[in-house]
Amino acid sequence: MSDNFDTIKCPACQKEMKKIFIPSEGINVDICLDGCGGIYFDNREFKYFDEQHENIDEIIKAVEGKTFEKTDETLPRTCPVCGARMVKNFASVKKEVQIDECYACGGKFLDHGELSKIRAQYKTEEERTADSMKLLYDTVGIKLKALDAEREELARKRSPLKKLFDHLVGMDSKI
Ligand SMILES: [Zn+2]
Ligand SMILES: [Zn+2]
Repeated sequence: MSDNFDTIKCPACQKEMKKIFIPSEGINVDICLDGCGGIYFDNREFKYFDEQHENIDEIIKAVEGKTFEKTDETLPRTCPVCGARMVKNFASVKKEVQIDECYACGGKFLDHGELSKIRAQYKTEEERTADSMKLLYDTVGIKLKALDAEREELARKRSPLKKLFDHLVGMDSKI
């Protein structure tokens, strides 16, 4: 998806968002500087800024010293680029920060302060991946344990029949 040059309205407070140019990545990020301080990233922008080592000087400079309107973060939001209803999702498996995501165009909206919270969660992409993998293993592990218990239960129920079977097989082999 190419960088979006149209002015968009903030999905949280409806004010016009301002484009902040990020020279290191050559892209524009939309920030609600006259309203709530929220940031909108298109589907390829977010990955440049969500880790601690990545540079967000321009974003910090833009919001520095400003006071922003408080918005109700629990309200449903509409994607300012494509108009689809945004979905609230946790930014990581740590489940600490909830952001609004657009499944139609891949855009993400972060309320003021959420970007720094997300960046503080993991130092590197490896750490984030490791945490996701751990969650996956835990989930699979729980399912496997449940399966084991089920199998044992089945074996226990079947045991009288199995005894008979073993007995018959034993008799067979004697013949
Ligand atoms: Zn806003
Ligand atoms: Zn969208």
